Amino acid sequence: MNYTVEEKEAFMREALREAEIALEHDEIPIGCVIVKDGEIIGRGHNAREELQRAVMHAEIMAIENANVSEESWRLLDCTLFVTIEPCVMCSGAIGLARIPNVVYGAKNQKFGAVGSLYDILTDERLNHRVEVETGILEDDCAAIMQDFFRNRRKK
Ligand SMILES: [Zn+2]
Repeated sequence: MNYTVEEKEAFMREALREAEIALEHDEIPIGCVIVKDGEIIGRGHNAREELQRAVMHAEIMAIENANVSEESWRLLDCTLFVTIEPCVMCSGAIGLARIPNVVYGAKNQKFGAVGSLYDILTDERLNHRVEVETGILEDDCAAIMQDFFRNRRKK
């Protein structure tokens, strides 16, 4: 993953744009983009409410999208940018898609499986290991979630 900090922030801003789409559907605002050779090849947002699909997390939608555009299940040489630390399911999916690099914005202390509860992407017992970077636009990625939950409590 040879992107500059500015490039990483620009891709994370695209992931935040996806999170805004989830917000428009009144659902947990998490967004994701998958990048190959500096181009976005997959985009996704949490769409559990919109599509009424339990597994339609941002990362899953982005992986599906990238699989279609690449015409391949393998997403080698790709970097996945997601606003919030992936859950157990999405960490598994990242491994299955052979994505080698993951960048996430803010931690998820309750559901995170890339450092918080578990450390699936860097577990030495698994043969697919991923290079992980955290903290890119962390405050923006956390703020959109905090606003969402604060507003929901008010309702
Ligand atoms: Zn997930």
